[in-house]
Amino acid sequence: MTGTADIRTETFFHEMRDGIFRRTDHMFATLMIIQWAFGMICALTLSPKAWEGATSYTHPHVWAALFMGGALSAFPIAMAIMKPGEVYTRHIIAISQMLWSALLIHLTGGRIETHFHVFGSLAFLAIYRDWKVLVTATIVVAADHFLRGTYFPESVFGVAAASQWRWIEHAAWVVFEDVFLIKTCIQAKREMREICIRRANLEILNEEMDAKVTLRTAELARSNQELQQFAYIASHDLQEPLRMVSSYLQLLKKRYQGKLDQSGDEYIHFAVDGALRMKQLINDLLEYSRVGTQRKPPVLTQTETTVDHALSNLKVAIEESDTVITRDPLPAVMADDVQLERLFQNLIGNAIKYRLKDRAPQIHISAKKSDQDTEFTIRDNGIGIAPEHFERIFDIFQRLHTAEEFSGTGIGLSVCRKIVENHGGKIWVESEVGKGSTFHFTLGEKK
Ligand code: ADP
Repeated sequence: MTGTADIRTETFFHEMRDGIFRRTDHMFATLMIIQWAFGMICALTLSPKAWEGATSYTHPHVWAALFMGGALSAFPIAMAIMKPGEVYTRHIIAISQMLWSALLIHLTGGRIETHFHVFGSLAFLAIYRDWKVLVTATIVVAADHFLRGTYFPESVFGVAAASQWRWIEHAAWVVFEDVFLIKTCIQAKREMREICIRRANLEILNEEMDAKVTLRTAELARSNQELQQFAYIASHDLQEPLRMVSSYLQLLKKRYQGKLDQSGDEYIHFAVDGALRMKQLINDLLEYSRVGTQRKPPVLTQTETTVDHALSNLKVAIEESDTVITRDPLPAVMADDVQLERLFQNLIGNAIKYRLKDRAPQIHISAKKSDQDTEFTIRDNGIGIAPEHFERIFDIFQRLHTAEEFSGTGIGLSVCRKIVENHGGKIWVESEVGKGSTFHFTLGEKK
């Protein structure tokens, strides 16, 4: 065990014991009141009156029960309330408790049954799980039996004359019980310590795990940020040389197309096409890293206007494909308006792009507002997606088609997911091959 674990074990152990001491002090405070009431009942029912001829007077037992019992209870109750958990409080309680046994034995005229109160009290005192309290109690019992047995045997043994060794016999029974109770106290203390050791070790382990998780999360966040920064810088810096390559290729094509042999023309065509695709890829990558790094605080955004902007950006594609777009009234939401526009543009753009050859695209946009968020839905009648691809299409560079079938870079939907996550929402798709797809996304209100 390490030093920290030792210290923690000790702290837990003291907290635990202190709790037990305090609770037991309070339990005895209640017991004292009950005993006092019981003592009064005994005195009043067994011998309330003493008679001298025809005159009677209140028996001294009643006064003993009232005043001595009151005094015996009041002090430990006050200690339990004012000084709970203190060492001397439980020893005072032990002394009072045993004196209570003595008083009850006296009040019942030394009945043997009342002697069992001593054994019961010791068992109750063992709840403290502190064997020293039992030693104090035993000394009080032994001293009481010795003194009263010697000077007032009737009060303790119920007979006028008792053997001078009788107190030893009684004390021996008490010691006999003590042996078991003390053993139990020591065992309980050992078990408590073991529980505390386990708790301390577990707590330290948890803290170490928490620290590791925090560290790893911070490292992950940092490396993610570095990666995003790298993607941004790399794609940004690639734009310039690519622009040169592209421009010179265009120039080459303009000046020498038709002047070279057929293979020469083809090479130029492939080179121009490759440069254009690379340009698209770099732009999409830039967009992807921008979504992660350039985030604005959310503002109240009129979704109707945002969708209008997205549609005007897609005007050419819409007209060329004869797309019909319908929509329900769309609510205002708290969002980064630039990112929201990009989100609609990507999803509507895909709905137009992935259309069936023999059917003009029909797209419907709708929204549903709930207490927690707003859910937007974009439904199309295009080629559809097989269920096994529902998840992976949102991963970067995941495409289901070749560039010849449908142009694209496989970045659009991963940008969409990032935007939605930035807004505390989620995105998913429902689709059937050949019938169309429905993309859903939610935007959390609080983000
Ligand atoms: P890109 O369109 O550039 O390939 P995306 O990330 O936008 O990349 O889309 C990933 C893949 O998801 C696409 O290649 C396509 O197969 C599929 N997809 C996306 N939107 C639709 C849609 N509306 N209908 C059918 N398939 C779609």
